[in-house]
Amino acid sequence: MQSVNPEGRLATLKNDEMEPNNASSPGMTSAEQPIQPGQPVGQPNAVQSPALAMMKIVTKNIEAYFGRTRALRNVSLDIPPNRVVAIIGPSGCGKSTYLRCLNRMHEVAGGTMTGSIQLDGEPVLDLDPVILRRRVGMVFQKANPFPTMSIYENVAAGLRLNGMRNKRRTAEIVEQSLQRAALWDEVKDSLGKSGMSLSGGQQQRLCIARTLAVDPEVILMDEPASALDPISTAKIEELIYSLKDSYTIVIVTHNMQQAARVSDFTAFFYVGELIEYDLTKNIFTTPAKKQTEDYITGRFG
Ligand code: ADP
Repeated sequence: MQSVNPEGRLATLKNDEMEPNNASSPGMTSAEQPIQPGQPVGQPNAVQSPALAMMKIVTKNIEAYFGRTRALRNVSLDIPPNRVVAIIGPSGCGKSTYLRCLNRMHEVAGGTMTGSIQLDGEPVLDLDPVILRRRVGMVFQKANPFPTMSIYENVAAGLRLNGMRNKRRTAEIVEQSLQRAALWDEVKDSLGKSGMSLSGGQQQRLCIARTLAVDPEVILMDEPASALDPISTAKIEELIYSLKDSYTIVIVTHNMQQAARVSDFTAFFYVGELIEYDLTKNIFTTPAKKQTEDYITGRFG
């Protein structure tokens, strides 16, 4: 199985085409415009291209291990700014591990890694992990509000940790974050209530608000809606779509319809390898690799 490098395609994005898009609905994004079907992938000199230099995150030849178990094999995959990239693949193929490598949570989970990851051109290994994780926030599968804190305190927690003492500014940011997370209208009259009093979907949006409060650049989402009912899932998906104007989003999902609905680009992983990375539309209509086709048509996984 060969690892696939998408840079050839992504490198063809021009500066103006990298701007946040104004498309009004998922599935019709301006990100789809600049890349022509059939364009070659993995051009060897893509790393020198100006468009690639504009990638928010550049990952090269990542090998990730848990002890002697290799969870990722030579994965090179680049994340454009202000886009949603979905990572799909069967259980155990390394999706979450890849995500955790991006903000160095993999090492917290007891893993090791080789290869390089750059955020805005800077190696993540050179960054203070606390600052890195502020810039690259994470939302988990199971909503995890701080159980003893109110809704307000949950959102303000990261700000306090970062030394914010100004109460008025804190209140502004809490409101703004809850609004961005599409939760404000539902909780504005009950900010003092426990975060745990909210429904599962509301708790997940609360966790997104908590992540947004510290002003990240990238948001990693690991199956953020897999524990939610369809209505809450739809809200989270709408939210993801709206957030990409301001953030770069990488979402792990095993729900292919969800990947098709929310993402601009999709990466298909299989047994630790990146098999194919392309515009979401291409992955789901004209995948280049047979393994991708077999997976998206439900032949395995
Ligand atoms: P996915 O997100 O695609 O389900 P993961 O990234 O969670 O896959 O796992 C990739 C591989 O790493 C799997 O073989 C899994 O068993 C292994 N793995 C994941 N987490 C750990 C861990 N904490 N300790 C040991 N092995 C792990």
